[in-house]
Amino acid sequence: MSVYTESLNKLIEELGKLPGVGPKTAERLSFYILKAEPAEAMKLARAISDVKNKIKHCEICYNLSEEATCQICCDPRRDKAIICVVEQPKDVIALEKTGACKWVYHVLGGHIAPLEGVEPSDLTIDKLVERVRKGNVKEVIMATNPNMAGDGTALYISSLLKPTGVKITRLARGLATGSTIEYASGKMLTDAIIGRQQLQ
Ligand SMILES: [Zn+2]
Repeated sequence: MSVYTESLNKLIEELGKLPGVGPKTAERLSFYILKAEPAEAMKLARAISDVKNKIKHCEICYNLSEEATCQICCDPRRDKAIICVVEQPKDVIALEKTGACKWVYHVLGGHIAPLEGVEPSDLTIDKLVERVRKGNVKEVIMATNPNMAGDGTALYISSLLKPTGVKITRLARGLATGSTIEYASGKMLTDAIIGRQQLQ
């Protein structure tokens, strides 16, 4: 028998599923929401519902967007001849924070991991190849994570792109092997961008 009402229990249970939120925190947050002004609490509920209902993937680069095409793809100042390939939307944010990027992106939606059941066809790799084949692309920068899965994914993609003759580069190794783009510092990312090297 629980000491809480059913709906309060449900809220504690759901908040407790969030990363980094233990049972104690879930309980504290739930009581905070319970005591909050209805309008304030509903703002939170609406924000959750909006991210699920309004956010979709850009139809060109698969970055997060509330429109059919994302802000980066729509930006006329971006060099569309350079495509930076990343695993997740979070990597776009990390790279954009450096202020060193004038290119457009391609978000794969993860990395190839056969043991976890992620095959190339589960990612947006075919869409990337299509983009490059359409022409007008000079360089593809592989900015997948510098770990085994990221390296493997970059190699697989570069083998597919090789026949197109496009220049393929990989972010420099200033990024520690095994690390992730998401958690790299801005300085490290900027160095990795400037020092990027040609693959193959
Ligand atoms: Zn886009």
